[in-house]
Amino acid sequence: MINRIVVLLISLCFLTRGYASNPIKGKIKVLIVDGQNNHTVWPKSTIMMKQYLEETGLFTVDIARTKYLNNSEENKSWLGYANVPEGIEGKPKTDLDFSPKFSKYDVVISNFGWRAASWPKKTKLAFEKYVKKGGGFVSVHAADNSFPEWAAYNEMIAIGGWGGRTEKDGPYLYVDKDNKVKKDYSPGKGGTHGKREAFPITIFDTEHPITKGMPKVWMHAPDECYAFLRGPAKNVTILATGVSTKKKPELEQKEPVALVVKYGKGRVFHTPLGHDTTSFECVGFITLLKRGVEWAATNKVTQTELPEDFPSAEKTSLRSFVLPK
Ligand SMILES: [Zn+2]
Repeated sequence: MINRIVVLLISLCFLTRGYASNPIKGKIKVLIVDGQNNHTVWPKSTIMMKQYLEETGLFTVDIARTKYLNNSEENKSWLGYANVPEGIEGKPKTDLDFSPKFSKYDVVISNFGWRAASWPKKTKLAFEKYVKKGGGFVSVHAADNSFPEWAAYNEMIAIGGWGGRTEKDGPYLYVDKDNKVKKDYSPGKGGTHGKREAFPITIFDTEHPITKGMPKVWMHAPDECYAFLRGPAKNVTILATGVSTKKKPELEQKEPVALVVKYGKGRVFHTPLGHDTTSFECVGFITLLKRGVEWAATNKVTQTELPEDFPSAEKTSLRSFVLPK
């Protein structure tokens, strides 16, 4: 009898653990939002992210796009994918009908960029509520340039650049030469970058599920290393760093290239990486993205095995992007 009770208790234990660690039934539902970006790699980069996520078998990905588009001409053919309605190319402009049903999704990825027009007020409030209540959010590259006036958004991304961001928005956040996280309140603009180049990425948090098991240093494909990002920098954990050619010699600062933020009950994964097709083809970037999206949605990462073609400390590794037939 006692044995049976013990077995029952142990089974209950496992069942409870199972439920707690896997709150999502079926595939993880992802929404990519886009439409206005200063980077001409979009809308191709949206389709790349959709494909990377769906090839894992873990995610289904929808796209919500503003009807006013900018900088979509260069990769215009990629607008035709995924049944997204045709938009109107021109200057960034608020789309009053842009109101994705955030609550239908486990995680939202932003592929907006610098000078994207504001979302309608009701959409901003719906998004704040969604993340506060436990929704996941992922900010890629210039998405941390967007919406400088939106206080809640700045809290979600923790740090951002350009758009008039200065000391009024919060401290610079970086890792100093002694490997300590530093919040620097000195005055100045937020956001700069040097030339596009391959650069090593160093894992700063080796225990976080997103970066766990990655080589301590790996070589990222040519990309921009954003520097001097600043913002509220609350509830933020730096996962990985890179060194920008724009570093100040006296600071010797290392810049966050992957970070996570707690916002209400929600989880945010923010990577300033991802300037163009080449950086999106980096196997390190792809792995960060797949893991970061899963973590933001579920608080865990099941994709623990690193791909065989993961970059080494000396050598970049890229996968030429092709859509499956
Ligand atoms: Zn860029």
